[in-house]
Amino acid sequence: MMDRGLRMIPVNEPLLDGNEARYLGECIVSGWISADGAFVEKFENGMAEQMNRRYAVSVANGTAALDIAVASLKIGPGDEVILPAHTIISCAAAVVKAGAKPVLVDSDPVTWNMDVTKIEGAITPRTRAIMVVHIFGLPVDMDPVIELASRYGIPIIEDAAQAIGLTYKGRPCGSFGAISCLSFYSNKNITTGEGGMVLCNDEALHARAKSLRNLCFMPKRRFIHEELGWNYRMSNLQAAVGLAQLESLTRHTLRKRQIGHRYGRLLHDVAGLELSPPSEPYGESIFWVYGLILKDDIPLSGDEARAHLAELGVDTRPFFWPMHEQPVFRKMGLFTDERYPIAERMGRRGFYLPSGLALTDEKQDRVVGAVRQLMESL
Ligand SMILES: *Cc1c(COP(=O)(O)O)cnc(C)c1O
Repeated sequence: MMDRGLRMIPVNEPLLDGNEARYLGECIVSGWISADGAFVEKFENGMAEQMNRRYAVSVANGTAALDIAVASLKIGPGDEVILPAHTIISCAAAVVKAGAKPVLVDSDPVTWNMDVTKIEGAITPRTRAIMVVHIFGLPVDMDPVIELASRYGIPIIEDAAQAIGLTYKGRPCGSFGAISCLSFYSNKNITTGEGGMVLCNDEALHARAKSLRNLCFMPKRRFIHEELGWNYRMSNLQAAVGLAQLESLTRHTLRKRQIGHRYGRLLHDVAGLELSPPSEPYGESIFWVYGLILKDDIPLSGDEARAHLAELGVDTRPFFWPMHEQPVFRKMGLFTDERYPIAERMGRRGFYLPSGLALTDEKQDRVVGAVRQLMESL
């Protein structure tokens, strides 16, 4: 009997084809497996250099990185943070957990990123940060955001979790704004299984981020605390994998782009689909994931299409569900009567195809065959 689970093409498979096993072995042999280990510092230094940043603080995951970014900027009750409606909940949750209010901006229907022309209208005297999130591998148009941020004196938090290896006008994503956040979850372009990072250039911000990561232990006297932090430390085991992944980043980014452009070529003539935007004048997508949006004349929701593709052996994931339609935030009285139509449409009609680094051309052809079969059957 065929095992459907085995035949299903997974939405992501990471590629651990460099020094990962060797570096992990060094951790085991040396006994350095917790956060106190040489790989943590090597990985942080390597990432800081990669991202053109003075400081890097490794953390337990990307959600933790966002928590630390918001807390490092001392954002709290009474403050507002502008962020896209279409993003992962970690962004809005970091703001809400800090006691502050997320203020949403709709997406751009072409780039799928936050519509930067709508940011200024969301600024109020309470705005304490603009959180930009590069979505699916194409950069946000940063120059207008940087101009606004400096005109109003508002810091930028950059969520570059999906943008490791991506550049905007030749500058690496992860280098923009007061503080940048990365995730190294298994589907990210550098993975440590679970992991994340905070990057910045400011010495005081760096010291605060480091302290918040480690329970705000006082440097003078351990076990006396003047503030509450988290244990968000990254282990040496994770950093060992991360360093090996960083060594492969250029090669892996090329491969991601190959996969993305190949999907674009093989799907461009399929009616009824909007395909992942490949580039804008300011940057070429690294296709962190390859997304599709069903055009409005297609009589299926994204979830219905995904169910059909699953029957054809193709695993997919829906796009993010918009923040203003999250039951958890509605229950808190947030976003009542707010509408962000582009983000709503993306949440209902968008999903992404298997896009991991280990995807072979043969598997990709099967994915394309399934998408064609579905669309031609309608
Ligand atoms: C993955 C991701 C995160 C969260 O990272 P975790 O490591 O899963 O906590 C945050 N922001 C964006 C844009 C992401 O894609």
